[in-house]
This record gives sequence, C-alpha cells and structure tokens, in this order.
Amino acid sequence: KGSNATLMARRQNALPRGVSQSHSVFISHAHNSEIWDVEGRRHIDFAGGIAVLNTGHSHPEITAAVQRQIENFSHTCFQVVAYESYVELAEKLNAMAPGSAVKKTMLLSTGAEAVENAVKIARAHTRRPGIIAFGGSFHGRTNLTMGLTGKVAPYKLGFGPFPGEIYHALYPNALHGVSVEAALDSVRALFKYDIEPERVAAFILEPVQGEGGFYPAPAEFVAGLKAIADAHGILLIADEVQTGAGRTGTWYASEQWPVVPDLITTAKSLAGGYPLAAVTGRADIMDAPAPGGLGGTYAGSPVAVAAALAVLKVFEQEQLLERARKVGERLRVGLRDMAARHPAIVDVRGPGAMVAFELGQGGDVKRPDADAAKRIVAEAAARGLILLSCGTYGNVIRILVPLTVPMAVLDEGLALLADSVAAALA
Ligand code: PMP
Repeated sequence: KGSNATLMARRQNALPRGVSQSHSVFISHAHNSEIWDVEGRRHIDFAGGIAVLNTGHSHPEITAAVQRQIENFSHTCFQVVAYESYVELAEKLNAMAPGSAVKKTMLLSTGAEAVENAVKIARAHTRRPGIIAFGGSFHGRTNLTMGLTGKVAPYKLGFGPFPGEIYHALYPNALHGVSVEAALDSVRALFKYDIEPERVAAFILEPVQGEGGFYPAPAEFVAGLKAIADAHGILLIADEVQTGAGRTGTWYASEQWPVVPDLITTAKSLAGGYPLAAVTGRADIMDAPAPGGLGGTYAGSPVAVAAALAVLKVFEQEQLLERARKVGERLRVGLRDMAARHPAIVDVRGPGAMVAFELGQGGDVKRPDADAAKRIVAEAAARGLILLSCGTYGNVIRILVPLTVPMAVLDEGLALLADSVAAALA
C-alpha cells in the first residue's frame, strides 16, 4: 500500500502518458457522492466518473443485484446462450424511448461502441455511406468515433487516417455567435461543397454537447435539422451517452426535443458504474443489419445488465428524474450567485443536472480562459472537491454530481466550489 504520491509515481512509470490524469489521488473506497483516497482523505465527487454515477458510487441496490448475478452466472455471450434480463432491459428501454413507433434495442459495452453500431445500423438501413456530425462534438476514441468527433486536440492528434464519408457542420452556439440559422445553413452548405444529401445516411448530434462544453442544442435547431433530414431520407441519431440516463431531468434528453430521433445511443450512467451501452431506435431501422451483423463477445454482459435493471428500479424508487431537476436548480442558483460576484464567469447553463459555467478573461466571452478553469479545478482539489473541466477551449467547468447526492453534501460541495472560484479568480 502506498501514498497517493508513490502510487502516482508507479503509475507514471508503468502507464503511457496518453492515458491522462485529472486528479492526483488514488481511491480507497467510495459511497454515493463521496470518495476516500488511500491516505484516508474525503473528497466530494462532482465528476461522477464522467457522467457514469447518476445513482452514486456503489448504490446498495445495484451492488446487491450485481452480487446476485455473479453468483448465478457471469457470462455466456448473449448470441450463444440467451438470458431473460437482456430482453427485459431492451423492453424497458424501448418503452422509455420517445416517439410512438415500435422500438428495438441492442446492447454493447461502451459509448463508442454504441455510436459505431448506430452508424452501422443507419448505413445498413439507408444503404448510404455519409454521416454528418458537428463541430465541438465528442463521440468516442475508436477510429470511426474519432472521425465523428469534432475536436482535434487531444483526441485526434497523431491518430489519422480517419475513416471517409464523415463531414462536420456547425453546432449552434448563441453565446459564441453561431445562430441556429447559421448552423442549419452550414448543413445545407455541405450538400453543395462535399456530399449530395442522397448519399447521407444520418446526422449525429449530442442533445447537449458534453466534452464540447455543455452547450444545449436549441429546440429550433433540432426541428430544423429534422426537417432537412426528412426532406432527404436522412436519419437523426441522438448521441445520449452523456445526456442520457436521467442527467437532464428526463431519462433521455431528446424527450425534451420537439422531434423524435430515429436512433439513440446511451451508456455511462445506464448501468451505474458497470460497462454497458445501448442503441435504441425504430424497429424497422434496427432490423436492417443481417443476422450476425451486430453483437460482441461481452455486449450486454449479464453483470452490467443486472446493474442497469437495478438502476431503473432506483430511479423509480428514489424519483431521480425529479431529483435531477432539483439538484440542477440548486446548482444553477449557486453558480449564478458566483457569477454575480465574478465577472470572469460569463455563462451558467444546462438542463436538469447537466450544469456548467464558462470562463472568459476579463468577462469577455471571446477570450476563453482555460487557465482559470485549471486553477479552479486545482483549488477545488486542494479543498477536497473533485471537478472536471470541458469545452473546445477547456474553459468550462461541468458538474456531474450523482443525482442521489444528499442535499447537505451538495451544499458543502457548492460552498467548496465558491471558495475555489474566489481563490482562483482573485
Ligand atoms: N459519446 C458521448 C456524447 C460521450 O460523452 C462519450 C464519452 N465521454 C462517448 C460517446 C464515448 O463513450 P465511451 O467512453 O464509453 O466509449
């Protein structure tokens, strides 16, 4: 057993530097929204394992469900020997998906795999190759999803060539002068400059860009995109890997859209800390790939599926959708209060509990202040608060605290955040 520092030194020697580290502590154990490190120090977790822990660390119901499952069996490969829990979870996710069309669901292990499979399914259904994604997006670290991702550093640096037939349009961002109309025009421009709409299989977008900076897609944009999609037989994929599983106050953020996506990807908090991902969508589209075309050895692991079914139960029992809205409101009030005292905080935003604030030098939106974000994260770490930054310019602090956080712990975290902001912006 070592200290944080000795473990970190071993980590540096044993792991490639590409696997980065936002905090310099090693965990000993955790409960709900609190983590204890190997030196016995307590930390409040406002990162939630990057949006994975909407139900908190080691929720007893989820842990018990996993324990029951591993005592029965841990793996068969679903395509070899089936188990009811996979079907039950698919039925539940189908029922929760927006829109009245009949749905189907397939399971995978990671968000990137879900996105890859959504693209495979969209291409098989439309028999078209093209995919239009958006600047500032994040869709994963595999070759296809790196290609879809709209951010060069650090995700794409040195990793090309990327797959063909992927194009990027502008994501609307009123704060930074990209209007809905300009974003829709940039889609139309792609049809002139790069690819005819008849060869485009799908648009893929995040309802709220996660890694890109917690920018929500305005309803008018999604409606406009859907109109373009319908005019040309193009599908709409909602990448809800970060927004899904209740983070925004509804199970899917796209439930708040004025239109219905054809395919939805989820992962992260879906199984409350176990690797599980899903593609859910219109049955006729989902059935396009031929038998054997979809799957994976671990896809829909019975252990992760047991966790996901328990997550759904916990959401119901603890009314976590309602709680997401409450936690989010508390965060926004606290952050707006900080913004009133610190002009460098140029925006506070986000639906439900997907909340963030943005930093600009001297209060100027056009001068993104990544250094201030770094200082705030460091000041928070020193006070025992685990924070994450994000954004194309690294100047956004995002909060992904468990929805199960006790209000007293949430307030304690907010107070630590206020102190950290004051110290960092002094
Ligand atoms: N899509 C989105 C919107 C994400 O936020 C992420 C992860 N941050 C991914 C895809 C990739 O998920 P994973 O890391 O599980 O592959």
